[in-house]
Amino acid sequence: MKVDVDAVIVGGGIAGLWTLARLRDQGFNAVLLEDDALGAGQTRYSQGIIHGGTKYALTGKLTASSEAVSAMPSIWRACHAGKGEVDLRKAVMISDAHYLWSTTSLTSKITGFFASRVMRARTTALKPQQRPAIFQHRDFRGSIYRLDEPVFDCISVLQALAEPSMRSIVAVRKDSIRPQVSSLLVETTDGQGCELNFSKLVLMAGQGNQSLLSAAGLQKPVMQLRPLKMVMMRGGLVNKVFAHCMGAGINPRVTITSHTDDDGNIVWYLGGQLAEDGVNRTDEEQIARAQRELAELIPWQKLDTAQWGVLDIDRAEVRHADGHRPDTFYATQQGNIITAWPTKLALAPLLAQQIVDYCSTVEKTDNELPAWPAPPFAKYPWCEPARWNGV
Ligand SMILES: Cc1cc2nc3c(=O)[nH]c(=O)nc-3n(C[C@H](O)[C@H](O)[C@H](O)COP(=O)(O)OP(=O)(O)OC[C@H]3O[C@@H](n4cnc5c(N)ncnc54)[C@H](O)[C@@H]3O)c2cc1C
Repeated sequence: MKVDVDAVIVGGGIAGLWTLARLRDQGFNAVLLEDDALGAGQTRYSQGIIHGGTKYALTGKLTASSEAVSAMPSIWRACHAGKGEVDLRKAVMISDAHYLWSTTSLTSKITGFFASRVMRARTTALKPQQRPAIFQHRDFRGSIYRLDEPVFDCISVLQALAEPSMRSIVAVRKDSIRPQVSSLLVETTDGQGCELNFSKLVLMAGQGNQSLLSAAGLQKPVMQLRPLKMVMMRGGLVNKVFAHCMGAGINPRVTITSHTDDDGNIVWYLGGQLAEDGVNRTDEEQIARAQRELAELIPWQKLDTAQWGVLDIDRAEVRHADGHRPDTFYATQQGNIITAWPTKLALAPLLAQQIVDYCSTVEKTDNELPAWPAPPFAKYPWCEPARWNGV
């Protein structure tokens, strides 16, 4: 089967699906290929925080990272209200804000920074009665700030983005994509062989980009992987927590978001420095470390009935000279092949705009698409019983 399309996107995570929604909305005949489930890569492991840059500003000055993301909360909120560039009205915002707390007083440098004019616009110091329930406990010491950073249920975001374009989202067999100069060969999961002729090929396959680039005969760009060892915990939890805990350093000591498993149990999902440093620990050591952190930071939360799980997951990004996180999204165009990584879930809108700009010279077509099999949506790791086993 031969089909002519304007753009082929490879990868159904946040980057691919946001871009598909934008391109189709602009009238491009774009299709998306996914060889697993939608969201099966990094997106379902994401904590879903739409950063506004405060976390990156904790060095005491505004950094390139903090500036790049500052507009993201308002862009996502507009989409959620049905007034943005994509329609996220059906997506679930699981918290209207993220919080920042310290167990003791913040270092003077950081306190001064919070008092600065630029940060007053982004953060609000909370009085005790305004604190989230978990921090209203009589044993809580320290300060807590509200950040204007919504937290989203990531799979519901993917569903909202995909729903209007399901006919153009194709389930393909693993390793079946063969990119050529202006076409690619691919096999769908129901065994149809297709030749897709495209004006633009957009590689948004996260970690999968590197082998797609090789298959296309491209040496660059080069990808880097930054590993994390996330921890999840459930059992005996009654409060949801959405907060970064600041320690002595500039990275959050731990970042907690809260989710719900299929039985309705609250799950705390722990990242931050705990997950970065955890890559050098065994699963048992990482759980012991998480238990110590929580016992120290939220000592009134009982942990004796808790169940634990550890998730090893790599972040995939363009390679940075010193191996650090890139400041913003990355996209590059070589001939008619575009390679992109959003770097952060929050940055998907900026990345999608860049791809729309790259496609501005493409002549739009409106060929009928055949009936293709659609991929399923990925499950959250905390909804997979095996992830809790053995611990
Ligand atoms: C633990 C963790 C927590 C995070 N928390 C946050 C956060 O709170 N806020 C934030 O802004 N960012 C966060 N991030 C970063 C964010 O999740 C990622 O930047 C983002 O999800 C990347 O999306 P993506 O679409 O590029 O890639 P992915 O989500 O990895 O999607 C790539 C897709 O491509 C598919 N694919 C791969 N190879 C092929 C192929 N050959 N053919 C077809 N399909 C293919 C995969 O199956 C997958 O569905 C977090 C990341 C991690 C790991």
